[in-house]
Amino acid sequence: MKAILDHIGIAVRDIEQALAFYRDALGLEVEAPEEVVTQRVRAHFVPVGTSALELLEATAPDSPMAKFLEKRGPGIHHVTLRVEDIRAALAQLKSRGVRLVDEEPRPGAEGALVAFIHPAAAHGVLVELTQKHSTGPDLRVHRFSVGDLQLTILYDGPFKLDGGSMFGIVPRALWEKQAPPDDRNRIQLAMRPMLVEAEWGRLLIDCGAGDKLTPKLQDIYGLDRSRSLEVALQEAGIASDSIDTVLATHLHFDHFGGATARAGESVVPRFPKARYVIRAAEWEDATHTHERNRGSYVLDDFVPLQHAGVIDFFGRDQTIRPGIRVMRTGGHTGQHQIVFIESAGKTAVFVADLIPTAAHLPDAWIMGYDLFPMETLAFKKRFIREAIEREYLILFEHDPCVAAGYIREKDGKRFVDPLA
Ligand SMILES: [Zn+2]
Repeated sequence: MKAILDHIGIAVRDIEQALAFYRDALGLEVEAPEEVVTQRVRAHFVPVGTSALELLEATAPDSPMAKFLEKRGPGIHHVTLRVEDIRAALAQLKSRGVRLVDEEPRPGAEGALVAFIHPAAAHGVLVELTQKHSTGPDLRVHRFSVGDLQLTILYDGPFKLDGGSMFGIVPRALWEKQAPPDDRNRIQLAMRPMLVEAEWGRLLIDCGAGDKLTPKLQDIYGLDRSRSLEVALQEAGIASDSIDTVLATHLHFDHFGGATARAGESVVPRFPKARYVIRAAEWEDATHTHERNRGSYVLDDFVPLQHAGVIDFFGRDQTIRPGIRVMRTGGHTGQHQIVFIESAGKTAVFVADLIPTAAHLPDAWIMGYDLFPMETLAFKKRFIREAIEREYLILFEHDPCVAAGYIREKDGKRFVDPLA
């Protein structure tokens, strides 16, 4: 098992006196206190690099923390190790006869799962295991309406990309709290194509990575095909042959790989009755790659569509179907576009790789993958302002946890108010 030091818990009698040392004398920054009601403690986190110190104060005289202080006095209370799969870690320890306090993980702060190992097994140290983001990516089908349009957020499974590449110039010390990397430096992401249903038909925006990637690439990108678009469509009760339009934000494999599928020796359109709507200039870029973008475009994802004669190319920003409008952002790719879904005065925007996750709200948090980051910056600054002012519902295609929400701003800080 791989484990990272998450934090060290320190029992203190008086938190203000403790802060006089940790905050004032040492000069460390202290996060706001958190009251853990069930444990009857108050916890102050003091970040130190990639881990933290946790100052713990009892809030009731009969709490476990108060008893610890009575018996042992102030000092180190526990050591917390972060693991990727807490259940697997517990099973491994159990198989080696290690005495556990918790045989099953229980919920901790901020959606984490935690379990304690008995101090007798760890040479006098209380060891806590924790697994962050216990829920994993949100791979649920979400249905809601925007005016007269019915929207269904689908999924094509979880995937992972290099954390550094996902945040460009932003140092890991800043992004790793929001997107904890695994032991291969990858962060958890999701792929969420979206279906729009209206009286004019059924239109799918993007279609995930699909099932053509080799096992080696599936491993590199952390794909889990048991939660593919196939499964999502079944769950939503949508037959593949009932989709009449497939619209691409751009032709990268994680957005349009699912446009085609293998059929024996050949590769064919994945949606047999659909017209595929593609921006002509994006097609030009995708079929004339250079060293910098070659890894992102896979010809088999889209060239077979041309052979099958199912593509409708278009040139400029326009309305694709009533209420469905595309707008070129550039930046990520030269022709990357976002999709406005508008009906009865309401607007939702499928932002694709302009704002891939809710962690990318600050203007400068731009992916290293972007070919023209200054173009991303210019568009994004304007767009986010507009999205806040006009209350656009934002659809985050790659965010592991937040599928959709409204961008808000308070005291200069942006955050997402997730769609319930
Ligand atoms: Zn992407």
